[in-house]
Amino acid sequence: MKANIMYAAGDVRVEEIPVPEIQKPTDVILKVVAACICGSDLHPYHKMHAHAHGEGEAMGHEVLGRIDVMGSEVSGFKKGDLVVVPFAYGDNTCPFCKEGLMTSCVNGGFMTGCQAEYVRVPQAQGSMFKLPDDIDENSPLLPSLLTLSDVYGTGYHAAVMGGVNEDTTVTVIGDGAVGLLAVLSAKKLGAKKIILMGRHKDRTDLGIDFGATDVIAERGEEGIAKVKELTNGEGTHVVLECVGLMPAYEMSLEAVRAGGVISRVGVPQYVEAPVGFASLFGRNITLTGGPAPTRAYMEELLPDILDGTLEPGRVFDVTVNLDGVPDGYKAMDNRVALKVLIRP
Ligand SMILES: [Zn+2]
Repeated sequence: MKANIMYAAGDVRVEEIPVPEIQKPTDVILKVVAACICGSDLHPYHKMHAHAHGEGEAMGHEVLGRIDVMGSEVSGFKKGDLVVVPFAYGDNTCPFCKEGLMTSCVNGGFMTGCQAEYVRVPQAQGSMFKLPDDIDENSPLLPSLLTLSDVYGTGYHAAVMGGVNEDTTVTVIGDGAVGLLAVLSAKKLGAKKIILMGRHKDRTDLGIDFGATDVIAERGEEGIAKVKELTNGEGTHVVLECVGLMPAYEMSLEAVRAGGVISRVGVPQYVEAPVGFASLFGRNITLTGGPAPTRAYMEELLPDILDGTLEPGRVFDVTVNLDGVPDGYKAMDNRVALKVLIRP
């Protein structure tokens, strides 16, 4: 089968590899119907060093597919079912999963190898989310349904962990797919003032469609001054940090109101961040967020997609087949594409 393998920064290749096989009775093999390239795939695309023995990494952690082979311990599903899989798999039965935190599942881990014709799903029974029977390969809802795997659930997690509700003002930092879907999520949770900080007009325009009430293109001190202007000099109750770089964290510290919450879902590309008196402590700021347990939100987020109320799939602006994935990485890296959909 065809699969996309990354060997080093900037080096993604389409290769023929064996179709994955069941390794544990809790596995399922899916035929991939839709997958995508994630903003977080760009981190290794920038930084990955070639492995000593030349082996590569099978890329892709977001997938919607049909069950092709079922492990002997997987029940409640059948061959041919169309399912979405969260980027973090888990058993959905351990104490952490029961509390909705599958990203800490004692039997959990992260999906890999979805940018291919077939993919193996560990802990499949707990991870897979079956889609309604009237949804098939031709459904116009597929892009939006695929966002349940990661980006929509991640934006929603940011808003939930931030405690967004109808009484909170919100700043979203970052106009990538997660940032835009954090806007959509804040709107869904009732926020009336949603300030989106981003520099790409085509993206922030989509953010306005998703519910942003104000857009700030400036960054750093200038950007913060604009946030203050819009909030009576106070900042917002919640800041959703959807970038993961230190300048975004530093802007969060300035944009958040005293007593407020900074919720981070951008994977931090730093190991140390200020948490002392002048940053978090002095103004009673809560810092929260982390990898999103997207499986926990699927039941809740599905209805708005099915009835067409929300279209998170609008974040996909380019579609490629498996041969087009290396160019898809380039397009996302060059900011030509917001998010690339893969239809094998
Ligand atoms: Zn678990």
